[in-house]
Amino acid sequence: MDLLNTLVDKGLRRETPTRAEALAVLATSDDDLLDVVAAAGKVRRHWFGRRVKLNYLVNLKSGLCPEDCSYCSQRLGSKADILKYTWLKPDEASEAAAAGLAGGAKRVCLVASGRGPTDRDVDRVSDTIKAIKDRNEDVEVCACLGLLSDGQAERLREAGADAYNHNLNTSESTYGDITSTHTYADRVDTVRKAHAAGLSACSGLIAGMGESDDDLVDVVFSLRELDPDSVPVNFLIPFEGTPLAKEWNLTPQRCLRILAMVRFVCPDVEVRIAGGREVHLRTMQPLALHLANSIFLGDYLTSEGQAGKADLEMIADAGFEVEGAGQVTLPEHRAGGGCGSHEGGGCGPHEGGGCGSHEGGGVCGSATAAEAGPGGSAAEEPRTDLVAVRRRGAGTDLAPNA
Ligand code: SF4
Repeated sequence: MDLLNTLVDKGLRRETPTRAEALAVLATSDDDLLDVVAAAGKVRRHWFGRRVKLNYLVNLKSGLCPEDCSYCSQRLGSKADILKYTWLKPDEASEAAAAGLAGGAKRVCLVASGRGPTDRDVDRVSDTIKAIKDRNEDVEVCACLGLLSDGQAERLREAGADAYNHNLNTSESTYGDITSTHTYADRVDTVRKAHAAGLSACSGLIAGMGESDDDLVDVVFSLRELDPDSVPVNFLIPFEGTPLAKEWNLTPQRCLRILAMVRFVCPDVEVRIAGGREVHLRTMQPLALHLANSIFLGDYLTSEGQAGKADLEMIADAGFEVEGAGQVTLPEHRAGGGCGSHEGGGCGPHEGGGCGSHEGGGVCGSATAAEAGPGGSAAEEPRTDLVAVRRRGAGTDLAPNA
């Protein structure tokens, strides 16, 4: 297919596809799906080989958020029966992180619900980063604490944070439909603050909230402009008790097309499959490894993932390898330059699956996957049987899944 040859050539040159090309990927048919995966897989392997980076989420503070992000089980007024607890102590967080690192993770994502941290919260997280790094020198730590005030990104950097996550989530034009308590511009501002402080920026999206193909392309092109080092792609987990509980719009095929589109637009960036991987990709997860070079190990913030052992077996069975602590994730031209200095564009919040993962529910219109393109995959039946509220790990007395 000419389209795919063009996209591979552009991906290998880090050249931005046109909007029409990105939209065309989302509109491919199921008959062409394996060709799409194979093409995007060439770009993935060019920049990241067969390595899969494992990330591990530690939910430092769960639930009780005053913000109203419709997709989020921790939102104001959420009836989702999730764990609710206030800040973990540094040694508790360090214990949870150690389980993920022992399971093969090289990055720990420290996430807290809320609009954004107070200066005291930054102190707490700084103590937690120190506790984790004292035990594990090589670990990468990403903080995900919401909207940052002036100076907080610099303080987190000084405390040893390597990265900061804040997702754009959806297009600017539909952002007001999913959240009323803060704006898209607030989110962009925080990603820029992280960049400016020398933190590696991580920013991604949530698919499946009823958005159109144009919205998906908009948010991914906006991410490319912001130039984060990593882009988490969340697939909405429609939590009972949230406004988006009925938004079951995704099929495994649609998820693969979305990941392929993100790979073509952000070819040399760490693309991470985040929340909703098991719920929406299901038995197609191994194919998604040909597109993304990064996943979360084990559980998410408020929902359970498949067993960490199953994650590792899947990676090995699919012919990939877990990226080691000594291996550099990003291609050389990105790894050396610091976050604010990537040439050539690139992609780069708090929720929707976590570092992308304060998972959520759904709003914004009601386009179904079948309506969204000619791909032929009908919108899926609700798979509420696959949504399990997290009852183990951080904030409980039970061992974490790692
Ligand atoms: S995504 Fe973050 S800010 Fe929004 S409701 Fe959830 S915890 Fe609060």
